[in-house]
Amino acid sequence: MDIEAFRRYGHQLVDWVAEYRRGMEGRAVMSGVAPGKIRGMLPARAPEVGEEFEAVLEDLERVILPGITHWNHPSFFAYFPSNMSLAAVLAELAIAGLGPQCMSWQTSPAATELEEVMMEWLREMLGLPEEFSGAIQDTASTATLCALLCARERSTDFGMNRGGLQAERAPLVVYASDQVHSSMDKAALLAGLGKENVRLIETDEAHGMRAEALSAAVEEDERAGRRPCAVVATVGTTGTTAVDPVAQAAEIAVRHGMWLHVDAAMAGAAMILPECRWMWEGVERADSVVVNPHKWMGTGFDFSAYYVRDSRHLIRVMSTNPSVLQTARDGEVKNYRDWGIPLGRRFRALKFWFLVREQGVTGLRERLRRDMGNAAWLKKAVDEEGEWERMAPVTLQTVCIRHVPTGNQDEAWLGAHNLAIAEKVNRSGRAYLTPAVLKGKQMLRVSIGAELTELRHVEALWKELRVAAKEEAGGGIRGGG
Ligand code: PLP
Repeated sequence: MDIEAFRRYGHQLVDWVAEYRRGMEGRAVMSGVAPGKIRGMLPARAPEVGEEFEAVLEDLERVILPGITHWNHPSFFAYFPSNMSLAAVLAELAIAGLGPQCMSWQTSPAATELEEVMMEWLREMLGLPEEFSGAIQDTASTATLCALLCARERSTDFGMNRGGLQAERAPLVVYASDQVHSSMDKAALLAGLGKENVRLIETDEAHGMRAEALSAAVEEDERAGRRPCAVVATVGTTGTTAVDPVAQAAEIAVRHGMWLHVDAAMAGAAMILPECRWMWEGVERADSVVVNPHKWMGTGFDFSAYYVRDSRHLIRVMSTNPSVLQTARDGEVKNYRDWGIPLGRRFRALKFWFLVREQGVTGLRERLRRDMGNAAWLKKAVDEEGEWERMAPVTLQTVCIRHVPTGNQDEAWLGAHNLAIAEKVNRSGRAYLTPAVLKGKQMLRVSIGAELTELRHVEALWKELRVAAKEEAGGGIRGGG
Protein backbone atom coordinates (compact mmCIF):
# COMPACT_ATOMS: atom_id res chain seq x y z
CA MET A 1 0.00 0.00 0.00
CA ASP A 2 1.48 3.34 -0.93
CA ILE A 3 1.11 6.47 1.14
CA GLU A 4 -1.65 8.01 -0.96
CA ALA A 5 -3.72 4.82 -0.83
CA PHE A 6 -3.15 4.69 2.94
CA ARG A 7 -4.36 8.27 3.24
CA ARG A 8 -7.49 7.50 1.21
CA TYR A 9 -8.37 4.25 2.99
CA GLY A 10 -7.40 5.72 6.33
CA HIS A 11 -9.92 8.52 5.96
CA GLN A 12 -12.50 6.01 4.80
CA LEU A 13 -11.83 3.80 7.81
CA VAL A 14 -12.03 6.66 10.30
CA ASP A 15 -15.38 7.63 8.75
CA TRP A 16 -16.49 4.02 9.00
CA VAL A 17 -15.56 3.85 12.70
CA ALA A 18 -17.32 7.18 13.32
CA GLU A 19 -20.50 5.91 11.65
CA TYR A 20 -20.27 2.63 13.54
CA ARG A 21 -19.99 4.47 16.84
CA ARG A 22 -22.79 6.86 15.91
CA GLY A 23 -25.17 4.08 14.92
CA MET A 24 -24.22 1.58 17.58
CA GLU A 25 -27.31 2.08 19.71
CA GLY A 26 -29.44 0.69 16.88
CA ARG A 27 -27.53 -2.59 16.78
CA ALA A 28 -28.15 -5.77 18.76
CA VAL A 29 -25.72 -5.61 21.69
CA MET A 30 -24.71 -9.26 21.68
CA SER A 31 -23.78 -10.80 18.37
CA GLY A 32 -26.44 -13.33 17.47
CA VAL A 33 -24.46 -15.36 14.95
CA ALA A 34 -24.41 -19.13 15.20
CA PRO A 35 -21.05 -20.87 15.77
CA GLY A 36 -19.18 -21.32 12.49
CA LYS A 37 -21.12 -18.59 10.68
CA ILE A 38 -18.18 -16.17 10.40
CA ARG A 39 -15.73 -18.95 9.65
CA GLY A 40 -18.02 -20.07 6.84
CA MET A 41 -17.69 -16.64 5.23
CA LEU A 42 -13.89 -16.78 5.23
CA PRO A 43 -11.84 -18.50 2.54
CA ALA A 44 -9.96 -21.55 3.78
CA ARG A 45 -6.64 -20.35 2.34
CA ALA A 46 -4.78 -17.06 2.22
CA PRO A 47 -5.04 -15.21 -1.09
CA GLU A 48 -2.13 -15.97 -3.39
CA VAL A 49 -2.13 -12.45 -4.83
CA GLY A 50 -3.07 -9.22 -3.14
CA GLU A 51 -6.62 -7.89 -3.45
CA GLU A 52 -8.03 -4.43 -3.87
CA PHE A 53 -8.21 -2.88 -0.41
CA GLU A 54 -11.81 -1.80 -1.05
CA ALA A 55 -12.71 -5.48 -0.86
CA VAL A 56 -11.07 -5.77 2.56
CA LEU A 57 -13.01 -2.79 3.90
CA GLU A 58 -16.25 -4.14 2.46
CA ASP A 59 -15.64 -7.45 4.20
CA LEU A 60 -15.04 -5.64 7.48
CA GLU A 61 -18.69 -4.60 7.27
CA ARG A 62 -20.06 -7.77 5.64
CA VAL A 63 -18.11 -10.54 7.39
CA ILE A 64 -16.75 -9.16 10.63
CA LEU A 65 -19.39 -6.76 11.93
CA PRO A 66 -22.17 -9.38 12.32
CA GLY A 67 -19.86 -11.34 14.62
CA ILE A 68 -19.05 -8.42 16.90
CA THR A 69 -20.56 -7.99 20.34
CA HIS A 70 -20.68 -4.27 20.99
CA TRP A 71 -18.83 -3.65 24.22
CA ASN A 72 -19.18 0.12 23.84
CA HIS A 73 -22.96 -0.08 23.32
CA PRO A 74 -24.97 1.96 25.85
CA SER A 75 -26.96 -1.16 26.78
CA PHE A 76 -23.89 -3.29 27.43
CA PHE A 77 -24.22 -4.48 31.03
CA ALA A 78 -22.24 -7.73 30.79
CA TYR A 79 -18.95 -8.77 32.44
CA PHE A 80 -17.39 -5.36 33.18
CA PRO A 81 -17.12 -2.09 31.24
CA SER A 82 -14.41 -2.16 28.61
CA ASN A 83 -14.49 1.39 27.40
CA MET A 84 -12.47 2.23 24.33
CA SER A 85 -12.87 5.98 24.41
CA LEU A 86 -12.62 7.71 21.03
CA ALA A 87 -9.44 9.47 22.16
CA ALA A 88 -7.96 6.01 22.81
CA VAL A 89 -9.11 4.84 19.37
CA LEU A 90 -7.10 7.68 17.85
CA ALA A 91 -4.16 6.80 20.08
CA GLU A 92 -4.27 3.22 18.78
CA LEU A 93 -4.06 4.59 15.25
CA ALA A 94 -1.10 6.78 16.16
CA ILE A 95 0.62 3.87 17.95
CA ALA A 96 0.18 1.63 14.93
CA GLY A 97 1.32 4.40 12.62
CA LEU A 98 4.47 4.99 14.64
CA GLY A 99 4.96 1.25 15.04
CA PRO A 100 7.58 1.29 17.80
CA GLN A 101 8.67 -1.70 19.83
CA CYS A 102 9.20 -0.34 23.30
CA MET A 103 11.24 -2.93 25.14
CA SER A 104 14.10 -0.60 26.13
CA TRP A 105 14.57 3.11 26.62
CA GLN A 106 16.78 3.23 23.53
CA THR A 107 14.26 1.46 21.30
CA SER A 108 12.01 4.54 21.68
CA PRO A 109 12.91 6.95 24.49
CA ALA A 110 9.57 8.76 24.20
CA ALA A 111 7.67 5.55 24.92
CA THR A 112 9.64 4.83 28.10
CA GLU A 113 9.54 8.39 29.37
CA LEU A 114 5.85 8.84 28.60
CA GLU A 115 5.13 5.54 30.39
CA GLU A 116 7.09 6.74 33.44
CA VAL A 117 5.12 9.98 33.57
CA MET A 118 1.76 8.32 32.86
CA MET A 119 2.33 5.82 35.67
CA GLU A 120 3.10 8.79 37.94
CA TRP A 121 -0.02 10.66 36.80
CA LEU A 122 -2.16 7.60 37.41
CA ARG A 123 -0.51 6.87 40.77
CA GLU A 124 -1.36 10.35 41.92
CA MET A 125 -4.89 10.15 40.52
CA LEU A 126 -5.41 6.94 42.51
CA GLY A 127 -3.95 8.40 45.70
CA LEU A 128 -1.16 5.82 45.92
CA PRO A 129 1.94 6.94 47.85
CA GLU A 130 5.11 8.05 46.07
CA GLU A 131 7.11 4.95 46.89
CA PHE A 132 5.01 3.00 44.38
CA SER A 133 6.27 2.88 40.83
CA GLY A 134 5.02 0.75 38.03
CA ALA A 135 4.81 -0.44 34.49
CA ILE A 136 2.00 -1.03 32.06
CA GLN A 137 1.18 -4.71 31.54
CA ASP A 138 -1.20 -6.23 29.04
CA THR A 139 -3.68 -7.58 31.60
CA ALA A 140 -4.30 -7.99 35.31
CA SER A 141 -3.73 -11.71 34.83
CA THR A 142 -0.12 -11.00 33.83
CA ALA A 143 0.29 -8.51 36.68
CA THR A 144 -0.93 -11.03 39.23
CA LEU A 145 1.44 -13.63 37.81
CA CYS A 146 4.29 -11.10 38.20
CA ALA A 147 3.19 -10.54 41.80
CA LEU A 148 3.20 -14.22 42.67
CA LEU A 149 6.57 -14.74 41.00
CA CYS A 150 7.98 -11.86 43.04
CA ALA A 151 6.39 -13.28 46.19
CA ARG A 152 7.84 -16.72 45.48
CA GLU A 153 11.33 -15.31 45.00
CA ARG A 154 11.15 -13.19 48.12
CA SER A 155 10.02 -16.16 50.20
CA THR A 156 12.75 -18.42 48.82
CA ASP A 157 15.50 -15.79 48.78
CA PHE A 158 15.80 -16.18 45.01
CA GLY A 159 15.47 -19.91 44.86
CA MET A 160 15.11 -19.53 41.09
CA ASN A 161 18.86 -19.05 40.93
CA ARG A 162 19.34 -22.43 42.60
CA GLY A 163 17.07 -25.45 42.16
CA GLY A 164 13.84 -23.46 41.91
CA LEU A 165 10.73 -24.67 43.70
CA GLN A 166 11.83 -28.25 43.17
CA ALA A 167 14.62 -27.75 45.64
CA GLU A 168 12.48 -26.16 48.35
CA ARG A 169 11.96 -28.10 51.56
CA ALA A 170 8.44 -26.93 52.36
CA PRO A 171 5.61 -25.84 50.08
CA LEU A 172 4.74 -22.14 49.72
CA VAL A 173 1.08 -21.23 50.27
CA VAL A 174 -1.03 -18.47 48.69
CA TYR A 175 -4.24 -17.06 50.18
CA ALA A 176 -7.17 -15.25 48.57
CA SER A 177 -10.90 -15.03 49.17
CA ASP A 178 -13.36 -17.55 47.76
CA GLN A 179 -14.51 -14.72 45.47
CA VAL A 180 -11.09 -14.12 43.90
CA HIS A 181 -10.79 -13.89 40.11
CA SER A 182 -9.70 -17.05 38.32
CA SER A 183 -6.54 -15.25 37.17
CA MET A 184 -5.16 -15.73 40.70
CA ASP A 185 -5.58 -19.52 40.49
CA LYS A 186 -3.96 -19.48 37.08
CA ALA A 187 -1.07 -17.33 38.31
CA ALA A 188 -0.50 -19.65 41.29
CA LEU A 189 -0.42 -22.66 38.98
CA LEU A 190 1.88 -20.96 36.47
CA ALA A 191 4.19 -19.87 39.28
CA GLY A 192 4.53 -23.55 40.14
CA LEU A 193 2.91 -23.25 43.56
CA GLY A 194 0.40 -26.03 42.98
CA LYS A 195 -3.35 -26.18 43.49
CA GLU A 196 -2.98 -27.85 46.86
CA ASN A 197 -1.21 -24.75 48.12
CA VAL A 198 -3.91 -22.25 47.21
CA ARG A 199 -6.28 -21.44 50.09
CA LEU A 200 -9.60 -19.84 49.27
CA ILE A 201 -10.68 -18.04 52.41
CA GLU A 202 -14.29 -17.80 53.46
CA THR A 203 -16.11 -14.51 52.86
CA ASP A 204 -18.72 -12.63 54.90
CA GLU A 205 -22.30 -11.64 53.99
CA ALA A 206 -20.94 -8.74 51.92
CA HIS A 207 -18.65 -11.24 50.11
CA GLY A 208 -15.40 -9.75 51.41
CA MET A 209 -12.67 -11.95 52.90
CA ARG A 210 -12.97 -12.76 56.62
CA ALA A 211 -9.71 -11.55 58.13
CA GLU A 212 -9.95 -13.92 61.10
CA ALA A 213 -10.36 -16.88 58.74
CA LEU A 214 -7.27 -15.73 56.83
CA SER A 215 -5.29 -15.48 60.02
CA ALA A 216 -6.42 -18.94 61.16
CA ALA A 217 -5.54 -20.54 57.80
CA VAL A 218 -2.06 -18.99 57.84
CA GLU A 219 -1.40 -20.18 61.38
CA GLU A 220 -2.58 -23.68 60.55
CA ASP A 221 -0.22 -23.86 57.58
CA GLU A 222 2.66 -22.65 59.68
CA ARG A 223 1.94 -25.28 62.34
CA ALA A 224 1.94 -27.93 59.60
CA GLY A 225 5.40 -26.81 58.41
CA ARG A 226 4.22 -25.06 55.25
CA ARG A 227 5.36 -21.54 54.37
CA PRO A 228 2.78 -18.77 53.87
CA CYS A 229 4.01 -16.82 50.86
CA ALA A 230 1.39 -14.36 49.56
CA VAL A 231 -2.06 -12.91 50.11
CA VAL A 232 -4.10 -11.61 47.19
CA ALA A 233 -6.68 -9.11 48.46
CA THR A 234 -9.36 -8.12 45.97
CA VAL A 235 -10.83 -4.65 45.88
CA GLY A 236 -13.89 -5.05 43.71
CA THR A 237 -14.46 -8.76 43.10
CA THR A 238 -15.57 -9.84 39.66
CA GLY A 239 -18.88 -11.23 40.86
CA THR A 240 -20.20 -8.44 43.05
CA THR A 241 -17.42 -5.80 43.42
CA ALA A 242 -16.99 -6.88 47.05
CA VAL A 243 -13.97 -5.61 48.94
CA ASP A 244 -11.54 -7.56 51.04
CA PRO A 245 -10.22 -5.82 54.20
CA VAL A 246 -6.86 -4.65 52.82
CA ALA A 247 -5.59 -3.11 56.06
CA GLN A 248 -6.22 -6.31 58.00
CA ALA A 249 -4.73 -8.43 55.23
CA ALA A 250 -1.65 -6.17 55.35
CA GLU A 251 -1.36 -6.69 59.12
CA ILE A 252 -1.47 -10.46 58.68
CA ALA A 253 0.91 -10.38 55.71
CA VAL A 254 3.50 -8.38 57.63
CA ARG A 255 3.15 -10.59 60.70
CA HIS A 256 3.84 -13.73 58.69
CA GLY A 257 6.35 -12.35 56.18
CA MET A 258 3.97 -12.67 53.22
CA TRP A 259 3.69 -10.64 50.03
CA LEU A 260 0.47 -8.61 49.75
CA HIS A 261 -0.90 -8.16 46.25
CA VAL A 262 -4.01 -6.00 45.81
CA ASP A 263 -6.15 -6.89 42.81
CA ALA A 264 -8.16 -3.77 42.05
CA ALA A 265 -8.47 -4.60 38.37
CA MET A 266 -12.05 -3.42 38.14
CA ALA A 267 -12.57 -1.13 41.15
CA GLY A 268 -9.20 0.58 40.86
CA ALA A 269 -10.60 3.13 38.44
CA ALA A 270 -12.94 4.35 41.18
CA MET A 271 -9.95 5.21 43.37
CA ILE A 272 -9.68 8.45 41.40
CA LEU A 273 -12.75 9.40 43.45
CA PRO A 274 -11.64 10.37 46.96
CA GLU A 275 -15.00 9.18 48.35
CA CYS A 276 -14.22 5.62 47.18
CA ARG A 277 -10.75 5.30 48.64
CA TRP A 278 -12.09 3.72 51.84
CA MET A 279 -12.42 0.61 49.71
CA TRP A 280 -8.68 0.01 49.69
CA GLU A 281 -7.72 1.54 53.00
CA GLY A 282 -4.31 0.09 53.92
CA VAL A 283 -3.19 -0.23 50.29
CA GLU A 284 -0.04 1.74 51.09
CA ARG A 285 1.24 -1.37 52.87
CA ALA A 286 0.78 -3.61 49.84
CA ASP A 287 3.79 -4.96 47.97
CA SER A 288 2.02 -4.76 44.62
CA VAL A 289 -1.22 -3.40 43.19
CA VAL A 290 -2.96 -3.87 39.87
CA VAL A 291 -5.53 -1.50 38.37
CA ASN A 292 -7.03 -1.88 34.89
CA PRO A 293 -7.67 1.46 33.20
CA HIS A 294 -8.77 -0.66 30.23
CA LYS A 295 -11.96 -1.55 32.02
CA TRP A 296 -14.08 1.30 33.30
CA MET A 297 -11.69 4.21 32.80
CA GLY A 298 -11.59 4.19 29.01
CA THR A 299 -8.06 3.55 27.75
CA GLY A 300 -9.35 0.56 25.80
CA PHE A 301 -7.96 -2.90 25.93
CA ASP A 302 -5.12 -3.46 26.70
CA PHE A 303 -3.73 -1.34 29.53
CA SER A 304 -3.17 -2.78 32.98
CA ALA A 305 -1.25 -0.69 35.51
CA TYR A 306 0.99 -2.72 37.81
CA TYR A 307 2.55 -0.93 40.78
CA VAL A 308 5.17 -2.24 43.18
CA ARG A 309 6.71 -0.82 46.32
CA ASP A 310 10.15 -2.26 45.60
CA SER A 311 10.92 -1.97 41.90
CA ARG A 312 14.45 -3.32 42.42
CA HIS A 313 12.99 -6.62 43.54
CA LEU A 314 10.70 -6.79 40.48
CA ILE A 315 13.64 -6.07 38.18
CA ARG A 316 15.77 -8.68 39.89
CA VAL A 317 13.07 -11.29 39.29
CA MET A 318 12.29 -10.28 35.72
CA SER A 319 15.50 -9.08 34.16
CA THR A 320 17.59 -10.96 31.68
CA ASN A 321 20.57 -9.23 30.19
CA PRO A 322 21.77 -10.80 26.97
CA SER A 323 24.39 -8.80 25.08
CA VAL A 324 22.00 -8.07 22.21
CA LEU A 325 19.78 -6.06 24.54
CA GLN A 326 22.49 -4.08 26.30
CA THR A 327 22.84 -0.38 25.51
CA ALA A 328 25.23 2.38 26.57
CA ARG A 329 22.40 4.09 28.51
CA ASP A 330 21.42 1.14 30.68
CA GLY A 331 22.77 2.67 33.90
CA GLU A 332 20.81 5.91 33.47
CA VAL A 333 17.39 4.86 32.21
CA LYS A 334 14.46 2.51 32.79
CA ASN A 335 14.26 -0.50 30.52
CA TYR A 336 10.67 -1.64 30.92
CA ARG A 337 11.43 -5.05 29.46
CA ASP A 338 12.78 -5.79 32.96
CA TRP A 339 9.48 -4.85 34.64
CA GLY A 340 7.39 -7.75 33.40
CA ILE A 341 7.26 -10.99 31.49
CA PRO A 342 7.33 -10.18 27.75
CA LEU A 343 10.37 -8.68 26.10
CA GLY A 344 8.49 -6.86 23.36
CA ARG A 345 6.17 -4.06 24.47
CA ARG A 346 3.48 -1.95 22.85
CA PHE A 347 3.42 1.85 23.21
CA ARG A 348 0.38 1.72 25.49
CA ALA A 349 1.19 4.89 27.44
CA LEU A 350 0.04 6.97 24.49
CA LYS A 351 -3.55 5.80 25.01
CA PHE A 352 -3.64 7.04 28.57
CA TRP A 353 -2.01 10.32 27.56
CA PHE A 354 -4.61 10.96 24.86
CA LEU A 355 -7.48 9.93 27.11
CA VAL A 356 -6.57 11.98 30.17
CA ARG A 357 -5.67 15.06 28.17
CA GLU A 358 -8.93 14.91 26.27
CA GLN A 359 -11.23 14.24 29.24
CA GLY A 360 -9.27 15.64 32.16
CA VAL A 361 -9.35 13.97 35.55
CA THR A 362 -12.54 15.91 36.29
CA GLY A 363 -14.24 14.50 33.20
CA LEU A 364 -13.28 10.96 34.15
CA ARG A 365 -14.49 11.48 37.70
CA GLU A 366 -17.84 12.84 36.52
CA ARG A 367 -18.45 9.84 34.31
CA LEU A 368 -17.66 7.32 37.05
CA ARG A 369 -19.93 9.20 39.46
CA ARG A 370 -22.69 9.18 36.86
CA ASP A 371 -22.39 5.39 36.54
CA MET A 372 -22.44 4.89 40.29
CA GLY A 373 -25.53 7.10 40.42
CA ASN A 374 -27.21 4.94 37.78
CA ALA A 375 -26.33 1.81 39.75
CA ALA A 376 -27.81 3.40 42.88
CA TRP A 377 -31.00 4.08 40.92
CA LEU A 378 -31.27 0.42 39.89
CA LYS A 379 -30.52 -0.74 43.43
CA LYS A 380 -33.39 1.37 44.75
CA ALA A 381 -35.75 0.19 42.02
CA VAL A 382 -34.94 -3.46 42.78
CA ASP A 383 -35.29 -2.95 46.53
CA GLU A 384 -38.73 -1.39 46.06
CA GLU A 385 -39.99 -4.15 43.78
CA GLY A 386 -41.56 -7.29 45.25
CA GLU A 387 -40.31 -10.64 43.91
CA TRP A 388 -36.82 -9.32 43.20
CA GLU A 389 -33.91 -9.96 45.49
CA ARG A 390 -30.62 -8.09 45.65
CA MET A 391 -27.74 -10.51 46.18
CA ALA A 392 -24.95 -8.15 47.29
CA PRO A 393 -24.29 -4.59 48.45
CA VAL A 394 -23.85 -2.11 45.60
CA THR A 395 -20.41 -0.74 46.33
CA LEU A 396 -19.76 0.66 42.85
CA GLN A 397 -21.55 0.12 39.57
CA THR A 398 -22.46 -3.57 39.67
CA VAL A 399 -25.93 -4.61 40.77
CA CYS A 400 -26.49 -8.31 41.44
CA ILE A 401 -30.09 -9.44 41.52
CA ARG A 402 -32.42 -12.34 40.94
CA HIS A 403 -36.11 -12.84 40.37
CA VAL A 404 -37.83 -14.85 43.09
CA PRO A 405 -41.53 -15.28 42.28
CA THR A 406 -43.70 -15.42 45.38
CA GLY A 407 -43.95 -18.84 46.90
CA ASN A 408 -41.14 -20.24 44.85
CA GLN A 409 -37.97 -21.06 46.74
CA ASP A 410 -36.69 -24.10 44.89
CA GLU A 411 -33.05 -23.30 44.06
CA ALA A 412 -32.88 -25.47 40.96
CA TRP A 413 -36.01 -23.88 39.53
CA LEU A 414 -34.87 -20.37 40.47
CA GLY A 415 -31.52 -21.01 38.82
CA ALA A 416 -33.06 -22.14 35.56
CA HIS A 417 -35.63 -19.33 35.71
CA ASN A 418 -33.04 -16.59 36.14
CA LEU A 419 -30.83 -18.07 33.44
CA ALA A 420 -33.82 -18.04 31.13
CA ILE A 421 -34.42 -14.36 31.94
CA ALA A 422 -30.82 -13.50 31.03
CA GLU A 423 -31.04 -15.55 27.86
CA LYS A 424 -34.25 -13.80 26.82
CA VAL A 425 -32.87 -10.31 27.41
CA ASN A 426 -29.57 -11.09 25.70
CA ARG A 427 -31.24 -12.71 22.69
CA SER A 428 -33.51 -9.67 22.27
CA GLY A 429 -30.43 -7.68 21.32
CA ARG A 430 -31.77 -4.72 23.31
CA ALA A 431 -29.40 -5.27 26.24
CA TYR A 432 -26.70 -7.66 27.33
CA LEU A 433 -25.96 -8.80 30.86
CA THR A 434 -24.09 -11.69 32.46
CA PRO A 435 -25.65 -14.35 34.61
CA ALA A 436 -23.32 -15.77 37.26
CA VAL A 437 -23.46 -18.06 40.27
CA LEU A 438 -22.83 -16.54 43.68
CA LYS A 439 -22.32 -19.03 46.51
CA GLY A 440 -24.52 -21.58 44.78
CA LYS A 441 -27.24 -19.14 43.77
CA GLN A 442 -27.87 -18.09 40.20
CA MET A 443 -27.93 -14.34 39.82
CA LEU A 444 -28.22 -11.69 37.14
CA ARG A 445 -25.25 -9.40 37.19
CA VAL A 446 -25.79 -5.89 35.86
CA SER A 447 -22.49 -4.13 35.35
CA ILE A 448 -23.10 -0.48 34.50
CA GLY A 449 -20.37 1.70 33.03
CA ALA A 450 -20.17 1.88 29.25
CA GLU A 451 -19.29 5.43 28.27
CA LEU A 452 -22.59 5.93 26.44
CA THR A 453 -24.84 4.45 29.15
CA GLU A 454 -27.30 6.97 30.52
CA LEU A 455 -30.01 6.52 33.11
CA ARG A 456 -32.58 5.86 30.37
CA HIS A 457 -30.65 2.76 29.28
CA VAL A 458 -30.64 1.41 32.82
CA GLU A 459 -34.37 2.13 33.12
CA ALA A 460 -34.97 0.30 29.85
CA LEU A 461 -32.96 -2.69 31.07
CA TRP A 462 -34.95 -2.84 34.29
CA LYS A 463 -38.15 -2.89 32.23
CA GLU A 464 -36.76 -5.64 29.97
CA LEU A 465 -35.86 -7.71 33.00
CA ARG A 466 -39.28 -7.42 34.58
CA VAL A 467 -41.08 -8.25 31.34
CA ALA A 468 -38.82 -11.24 30.71
CA ALA A 469 -39.27 -12.42 34.30
CA LYS A 470 -43.05 -12.24 34.01
CA GLU A 471 -43.09 -14.10 30.70
CA GLU A 472 -40.71 -16.79 31.95
CA ALA A 473 -42.54 -17.25 35.25
CA GLY A 474 -45.86 -17.47 33.42
CA GLY A 475 -44.62 -19.93 30.82
CA GLY A 476 -42.63 -22.25 33.05
CA ILE A 477 -43.80 -24.97 35.41
CA ARG A 478 -43.23 -23.89 38.96
CA GLY A 479 -41.37 -26.29 41.13
CA GLY A 480 -40.56 -26.27 44.81
CA GLY A 481 -42.28 -24.02 47.36
N1 PLP B 1 -9.17 -9.37 38.59
C1 PLP B 1 -10.45 -8.99 38.67
C2 PLP B 1 -11.00 -8.58 40.00
C3 PLP B 1 -11.24 -8.97 37.52
O1 PLP B 1 -12.53 -8.59 37.61
C4 PLP B 1 -10.69 -9.35 36.28
C5 PLP B 1 -11.52 -9.37 35.07
O2 PLP B 1 -12.71 -9.29 35.11
C6 PLP B 1 -9.35 -9.74 36.25
C7 PLP B 1 -8.61 -9.75 37.42
C8 PLP B 1 -8.68 -10.18 34.99
O3 PLP B 1 -8.43 -9.08 34.18
P1 PLP B 1 -7.58 -9.19 32.84
O4 PLP B 1 -8.54 -9.52 31.76
O5 PLP B 1 -6.97 -7.82 32.68
O6 PLP B 1 -6.56 -10.25 33.02
